Amino acid sequence: MKGLHELTVEPKIAYFSMEIGFRNDIPTYSGGLGVLAGDTIKSAADLKLPMVAVTLIYRKGYFMQEIDSRGRQIEHPVVWNPADHMALLPQRIRVRIEGRDVSVQIWQYDICSQTGGCVPIFFLDTDLPENIQRDRELTDSLYGGDERYRLKQELLLGVGGVRMLKALGFQIKKYHMNEGHASLLTIELLTRYKRDIETVWDERAIWDTEKVKDICVFTTHTPVEAGHDKFSYDLVREVIGEVIPFDVMKELAGPDKLNMTLLAMNLSKYINGVAKKHGEVSKNLFPGYVIHAITNGIHSFTWTCESMARLYDKYLPGWANEPELFVRVGKIPDEEIWNAHMEAKKKLIDYVNEKTGAGMDCDTLTIGFARRATSYKRASLLFRDIDRLLKIGKGKLQLVYAGKAHPKDTDGKKNIEEIFRKSEQLKGAVKIIYLPGYDMGLALKLVSGVDVWLNTPMRPREASGTSGMKAAHNGVINFSVLDGWWIEGHIEGFTGWAIGPAPTESTLTESTDEMDADDLYQKLEKQVIPTYYDQRHTWIRMMQNAIGKNASYFNTHRMMRRYVTEAYIR
Ligand SMILES: *Cc1c(COP(=O)(O)O)cnc(C)c1O
Repeated sequence: MKGLHELTVEPKIAYFSMEIGFRNDIPTYSGGLGVLAGDTIKSAADLKLPMVAVTLIYRKGYFMQEIDSRGRQIEHPVVWNPADHMALLPQRIRVRIEGRDVSVQIWQYDICSQTGGCVPIFFLDTDLPENIQRDRELTDSLYGGDERYRLKQELLLGVGGVRMLKALGFQIKKYHMNEGHASLLTIELLTRYKRDIETVWDERAIWDTEKVKDICVFTTHTPVEAGHDKFSYDLVREVIGEVIPFDVMKELAGPDKLNMTLLAMNLSKYINGVAKKHGEVSKNLFPGYVIHAITNGIHSFTWTCESMARLYDKYLPGWANEPELFVRVGKIPDEEIWNAHMEAKKKLIDYVNEKTGAGMDCDTLTIGFARRATSYKRASLLFRDIDRLLKIGKGKLQLVYAGKAHPKDTDGKKNIEEIFRKSEQLKGAVKIIYLPGYDMGLALKLVSGVDVWLNTPMRPREASGTSGMKAAHNGVINFSVLDGWWIEGHIEGFTGWAIGPAPTESTLTESTDEMDADDLYQKLEKQVIPTYYDQRHTWIRMMQNAIGKNASYFNTHRMMRRYVTEAYIR
């Protein structure tokens, strides 16, 4: 743990995220957004960037997933103790919620790199005896509760986070909002940098929006209108009160509802989407704003399995802090890449067999699909025509699925049940397993242990997607719909395969299920399966290309360098 004095000397970039996933045994994340935040912080530490991070503690985590024999998801709270992992700081702050002063304590966890860089993460926690029970529970559940609970959490994150950094003595030169959840921090900054009433020409001019804009950076992750957090002004009045006049608030956050994305955009000088395509989609959603694009990455060291890491250490020393070195992957002999992959594959297959008794084997082409179980990810696209799948895949394919559905996402839960039903219909001719408890640990096993990583989202819903980048780091070949990062990473038959057409206006409005499923079967039959079984040399070339052309670029080291030069130091 770094001393605060040592940490507060240099002005910092403050990175705010509703969720941060950085260790498998610290359940403060639900999915891609949180893991991206963790990877961002790890790369910042490796690169010795002056950064601090802010989030909430979530004493009950997201949830632990059990799946019964019919595929129904059962949720359990996660039990963990922050004191086992982090340090409680003596400082406390207060945030006014529903007219009550709520006390907030702070936990510190340092992400320290072998390079000597260190980024502390501060976790806000309201579980204090002086708070009423309802307020004590505000930092229990990630994405739990109702709208009111969510607004209170976002108030804690944004306003509480800014106050906390001040209480700890930090000087902050940029506030980076990772998604709109944190955008109430702009309101706290507006009140902090208020102009003197004596010097302004009219009363509204005391709100120095330009000053706040200068120090704020906003990254949007949501490519559809409905995905952006919005709160009614009645609720805002009850929970937050009139911290700044409502007419000013409405000008900044929307006339009808407080739109968190709009608020962040109106008060950030630099705004970006998380892939090139997502940048364009965001411009269409919010015409008139300058929206840049910085394509996401993943933290190379975190997401490379042991056997591949050993290989990279041998042939590309220094790769973890300089992932550009992956361009020299051609130095690694074919059979060594294959053997390292088979080691990871055996680990996964052993795990699957031990957990489920499925009797999978290491010689069969294995496809992985793991992500949040939610409708737009179309987990069951592969089963659209069961007979065709059977004909193509009988005895040649095995599939491993995983993913949690949000407790309130009924459709997402039905998707899991459907995969169970389909797997019964296939009667083992194509083995399908759904592993419970998708988390960072299981994710690493999967993205390194399968042969092919499948992704079938509805366009343009996958703003970026990151699990495919993890696969590429392990020489696992992507087979995906052209959306998000894959539009930039895909070279047909070279780094992997595309499913369905390139995204165009019509694919944004019409269902493409039929077309996509047809292409999926076609490619599976004519390319993926024959290449795997009959052209091993070509297959290994593709594994190399995944590493050399995708892992070398889709990493958070490259991403952070871009944030620094394009967003932080301007
Ligand atoms: C990487 C990761 C994700 C994000 O994967 P996507 O491809 O963006 O869906 C979600 N959950 C976990 C546990 C992960 O490790």
